[in-house]
Amino acid sequence: MAFEEAQHSVELLLTCNRSAPLSQGFPGTETELVVHGLRFGELTNTARYALINHSDMKDDCLFCKIVAGEIPSGKVYEDETCIAFNDISPQAPTHVLVVPREHFDSLDTATDAQRATLGHLLLASAEIARKRGIAEDGYRVVINTNADGGQTVFHLHVHLLGGRPFVFPPG
Ligand code: 5GP
Ligand code: ZN
Repeated sequence: MAFEEAQHSVELLLTCNRSAPLSQGFPGTETELVVHGLRFGELTNTARYALINHSDMKDDCLFCKIVAGEIPSGKVYEDETCIAFNDISPQAPTHVLVVPREHFDSLDTATDAQRATLGHLLLASAEIARKRGIAEDGYRVVINTNADGGQTVFHLHVHLLGGRPFVFPPG
C-alpha cells in the first residue's frame, strides 16, 4: 500500500468511522500502524490527533467495553455519538443509560471539547423518551457526578428514568 494511501486509511479509520473500529475491538494504535506499515512520526497531524484521542478509551472501563460491543448490553438506541441501553438494575419502568462513544470520566472533567456531545446526549434522551411513549407524562434525566452525586461508573452517562412519578429533591 502506498504511503499516502495507508495514511489516509488510518485517518479514515480513526476519524470518520470511530464506532466501527471500536465495535471490532480495535486495539489501538500499534497493531493498526504495523498493518499499515507506518510509524507515529510519519503521520499527519490529523492522524496523530485521532490516535491520541482514541487512546482515551480506557481498557478497564465497563461502558467503553459496552460501546465496543465486548459486553452485551440490550441496546435500545445508537447513533454516531452515543449508544443507549437498559440499566442492569432499573429504578423505574424505563431506566435507560445514554452513553457517549467517547470516554470522559464525568461532567466534572468535561471541557469545551465535549460541549456538543453533552448537548447530543440530552437530545438523544428526549428522542428516546418520545419513542418509548413516556414524554407526555414526563421523565427525569440525571447525571450523577462524583462521590456525593452517587456516580459509580466513571464514563459519563445520562440516566433516563420514566414510567412512574418522581419526587424532588431526590434522596
Ligand atoms: P452511576 O451510579 O454511575 O450514575 O450509574 C451507573 C449505572 O450503571 C447504575 O445505575 C448501574 O445499575 C448501571 N450498571 C452497572 N453495571 C452495568 C452493566 O454491566 N450493564 C448495565 N446495563 N448497566 C450497568
Ligand atoms: Zn469509558
